[in-house]
Amino acid sequence: MEKRILRKNSGNRFGKTAFYDIMTAKRAETTARAKRAGVAQSHGRTLENKDGRMGKVLSINQYVRAQSLDEAYTLCQKKNNVVIGGMLWLKMQKRPVGTAIDLCDLGLDSIAETETEYRIGAMVPLRALEMHEGLAALTDGAMEQTVKHIVGVQFRNCATLGGSLWGRFGFSDVLTLFLALDARVVLHHAGEMPLADFAQLPRTTRDILTEVIVPKAAGRVVYLSQRNISTDFPVLTAALAGRDGNYTCVIGARPMPAAVFTDDKGILGQGITEDSARAFAEDIASRAVFGSNTRASADYRREICKVLVRRAALALAKEG
Ligand SMILES: Cc1cc2nc3c(=O)[nH]c(=O)nc-3n(C[C@H](O)[C@H](O)[C@H](O)COP(=O)(O)OP(=O)(O)OC[C@H]3O[C@@H](n4cnc5c(N)ncnc54)[C@H](O)[C@@H]3O)c2cc1C
Repeated sequence: MEKRILRKNSGNRFGKTAFYDIMTAKRAETTARAKRAGVAQSHGRTLENKDGRMGKVLSINQYVRAQSLDEAYTLCQKKNNVVIGGMLWLKMQKRPVGTAIDLCDLGLDSIAETETEYRIGAMVPLRALEMHEGLAALTDGAMEQTVKHIVGVQFRNCATLGGSLWGRFGFSDVLTLFLALDARVVLHHAGEMPLADFAQLPRTTRDILTEVIVPKAAGRVVYLSQRNISTDFPVLTAALAGRDGNYTCVIGARPMPAAVFTDDKGILGQGITEDSARAFAEDIASRAVFGSNTRASADYRREICKVLVRRAALALAKEG
């Protein structure tokens, strides 16, 4: 099975260890999946489903551990090639990939602190964000609140910040918080830009996300989400940040990529009270666009939005 999923690259860039690592991981995963499904393991690019039908899986022709950002960037220009972060989202896709470009040798897995900002490498796992004391202090615990409901610890040890933001998922807790933190991203080719601008880039953009910058002047922030059941995708996410008397509210999992709203009417400007928090929440809920999916209807999301934003505003006032 492995040979057909991952064919050995004749080029000298191919790390032998990496090849065997990924083969072993793939073999273990496939065996476990086959056992769970109660079917014999298949030996091709397809796996047999419980009902005997053959379902397609992600297949990777070649795996490369890029040795420089230039190499990764050049490789990712080809439509059929993909950059891999933790590969947790990618592995759910059913398509053939030419070359999988692993960034794990490029030193993008650390969090650096300067006087004015945190610089977080794209390969930093969500679990590292959750456990980071400096980010916890900066966000009053909102960083942990944002990621702690995402599947489980082992999952968060693998899922990367880069993959989480690059995907601009319509359910993203991570995108919601980082937008509220006024984060900036660094793309290898396109350079540094506000995360809000990056979120608008066409999905066909082919670049490498290298770093995410969180300014220390991000202000106070509160993060809340609503889930039908713990660890499921969120029904709605909300982050509220207060900076120098200005407020930014981000609503995500609408279920569309998170959207940013400012307090244009100055509702919270005169101080956060029960009444102003409620009025602000009503205002945001009336401006945001919501959709329906299997988790909730648009109308339900609008109601939840009012609750989360009001609570977030009151929590922000409590934080002082
Ligand atoms: C079952 C499941 C449940 C989830 N639940 C939630 C949830 O509740 N809340 C939430 O916020 N998220 C959730 N996620 C998303 C998850 O947290 C990660 O965001 C997701 O798995 C992507 O991270 P990754 O590192 O695995 O990226 P990958 O799957 O490796 O990559 C994702 C995409 O980003 C691209 N990419 C990765 N890194 C880079 C880079 N540095 N530069 C350019 N492109 C890059 C890849 O090519 C790919 O297109 C869930 C995912 C799964 C599979």
